Amino acid sequence: MSNPFLSVRDLKVHFATHDGVVKAVDGLSFDVERGKTLGIVGESGSGKSVTNMAILRLHDPRNTVMDGEILLDGKELITASERELEQLRGNKMSMIFQDALASLSPYHTIGAQIGETYRKHTGASKKEARARSIEMLRRVGIPQPDVRVDEYPHQFSGGMRQRAMIAMALVCDPELVIADEPTTALDVTVQAQIMDLLKDLQQEFGTAIIFITHDLGVIADIADDVLVMYGGRCVERGTKQEVLRTPEHPYTLGLLSSMPTLDGPVDVPLSPIPGSPPSLLNPPSGCRFHPRCTFTEKVSGERCSDEQPVLQIGDGRGAACHLTSEQKRELFADYATARTN
Ligand code: SF4
Repeated sequence: MSNPFLSVRDLKVHFATHDGVVKAVDGLSFDVERGKTLGIVGESGSGKSVTNMAILRLHDPRNTVMDGEILLDGKELITASERELEQLRGNKMSMIFQDALASLSPYHTIGAQIGETYRKHTGASKKEARARSIEMLRRVGIPQPDVRVDEYPHQFSGGMRQRAMIAMALVCDPELVIADEPTTALDVTVQAQIMDLLKDLQQEFGTAIIFITHDLGVIADIADDVLVMYGGRCVERGTKQEVLRTPEHPYTLGLLSSMPTLDGPVDVPLSPIPGSPPSLLNPPSGCRFHPRCTFTEKVSGERCSDEQPVLQIGDGRGAACHLTSEQKRELFADYATARTN
């Protein structure tokens, strides 16, 4: 990627707690191109949401230590002032949260909340902001937007509220949208509508999207590139086709094996990953996945528990694992055969 819109290098986000330092993100690098969608996938506690809150600098600075580099269109965000960030949030980047009801104020109408964001960044009049709110509600598929604009969040259904939040996130035509599990709380039909809506809006505005999810089915639908996170680190990245069709990391393989497919044989048993995600207070030594990995004996000596596998900085294909390419091909072949026969 020659000129990424967002470039994250060796990002660390550590939290000071009474029990010690939680290394929620520990050396993460990735790029996002304009008009493309990066899917970030991983279990709860893998660091996906922390990473994206860090891009918007939403963590409490009193107990958060951030290190590394976050370049948004060439502008360094880790060292940016609060004033500069205020300008960038909404204008250049915005976030769609999982829980629209918790994110919208119950005391103000939907139109007032969308319009307020617009006025703050553009200096538009109240009348202009109202017209813009109606236009945005229409764009995200809210029926009778000129009436619904004066309603409160509790008068909207869950799917409508999520649409309204998308309208709010896009009202200033941001160039980067971070969507944090935006469809998890919705039923499958509404989920599909919201995903289609995001794709349409991306086409229209050329927005770069980071889509955070624990669901590989959602990734298959919406992402161009994929980043798999485990224990605060990236363990695999590549295009959607590369990661989903020919995974190179045992954790990705585990995620895929625990997911049903529609076009594969119905008698392939699902196999959940044994064990639970690592503690980020006291992460395992070496490869953080080693206590749960079923391939450690294929790697010579104690490398898996002693030596951290390295993923080269950059945006290309890669996986952080000591297995050789040949071993992966051989060991993961069973998975591919079982899923495609
Ligand atoms: Fe498994 Fe070792 Fe590879 Fe980690 S480095 S994923 S423990 S084989």
